[in-house]
Amino acid sequence: MPRLVMKFGGTSVADLERIRAAAVKIKREVDRGYQVIVVVSAMSGETNRLVGLVDQASMGADAKTPGFFDAREYDAVVASGELVTSGLLAVVLQEMGIQARSWQGWQVPVNTTDDHGAARIESIPSDNLDAKFAEDMEVAVIAGFQGVAPDGRVTTLGRGGSDTTAVAFAAALNAERCDIYTDVDGIYTTDPRITAKARKLERIAFEEMLELASLGAKVLQTRSVELAMRNRVRLQVLSSFNDEPGTLVCAEEEIMESNVVTGVACSRDEAKMTLISVADRPGIAAAIFTPLADAGVIVDMIVQNISEDGRTDMTFSCPVADVPRAEKALEDAKARGEFNYRELDKDTDVAKVSIVGIGMRSHAGVAQKMFKNLADDGVNIKVITTSEIKVSVLVDRKYMELTVQSLHDAFELERTA
Ligand code: ASP
Ligand code: MG
Repeated sequence: MPRLVMKFGGTSVADLERIRAAAVKIKREVDRGYQVIVVVSAMSGETNRLVGLVDQASMGADAKTPGFFDAREYDAVVASGELVTSGLLAVVLQEMGIQARSWQGWQVPVNTTDDHGAARIESIPSDNLDAKFAEDMEVAVIAGFQGVAPDGRVTTLGRGGSDTTAVAFAAALNAERCDIYTDVDGIYTTDPRITAKARKLERIAFEEMLELASLGAKVLQTRSVELAMRNRVRLQVLSSFNDEPGTLVCAEEEIMESNVVTGVACSRDEAKMTLISVADRPGIAAAIFTPLADAGVIVDMIVQNISEDGRTDMTFSCPVADVPRAEKALEDAKARGEFNYRELDKDTDVAKVSIVGIGMRSHAGVAQKMFKNLADDGVNIKVITTSEIKVSVLVDRKYMELTVQSLHDAFELERTA
């Protein structure tokens, strides 16, 4: 029998009414002849509540600052959210006459590393599930987000980890597809709040989905998309609130015709920093970016300018929130004599706009068209970076929406290929 993985996120199992609605969708797939592996999240808000309880339990006498706590016990507590929803969904399915049972991570087992709070899945032997499916089980309801360490203790995979659980099961059990039910109905060509012309994509390639982080990250944990790409698991993102078809995230060979540009992504809170006049010598980039990395600054774009008289300017972008840390790390390194610069220029009013599409690999002039469009709009480009399937620019934040709308029009994203 073909197998299907269906994953329901927090808002899709938020209460018994939502759990019943999920059960109706599951029954439909059972009736179509699938062996169904359901992966559930905790009820929405529940994991945050549990994390808060652990924090409170670890507080000292001042009852203000969370103290040190045993990560193994953190996992024991936060894994309970999924335990509850898996059991409840099994009860509701049984009530509908379906042979269903719940499975905790350790029961399957979902073998993970012992990195408590951020464990990685190592293997999911399918023998136990296979045996139950061979008996009479029609639906296995898996508690997402959790696994078991080599020493037998409960682990969790990191926040948002149940998407990764779902993809890992689809790979391990050879499922035909992994359907991710959530509160949005798919992946759009751009943020629909920025332009009403945003269109739901029928299909998108794994690579594009990874590059469109700002459009996709809220919907699917990035790690789960990487895992799906590596294991060739076809993912469908769809809403549990209606019966509309969603967006299929798949290998590019499965996409016959696509627009040259698939989507326009943006990220609002970016900053640009430039070290003016640093020595142009081997090791300078390493010297600058080591203290930044040590300070946990998330560096995105990097541009090294042309050198004159052995001096050069080094520009990079990072989230606005990282600017104070970046500044301190650079000033401290300069004070330690690790490198020198004349000035540190900061621009905290920029946003990043990116166009993404696998079609760029075989089409010339995509970047040129983007730049021409910005020129016509009178928008100045501050930094440019490109990859094989993406062109990103930094622009003044006040022009972000305009730029997105204008590029969405220019590349005719409201039209299907
Ligand atoms: N319940 C977990 C969380 O909120 C895992 C998930 O929902 O994916 O992070
Ligand atoms: Mg989620």
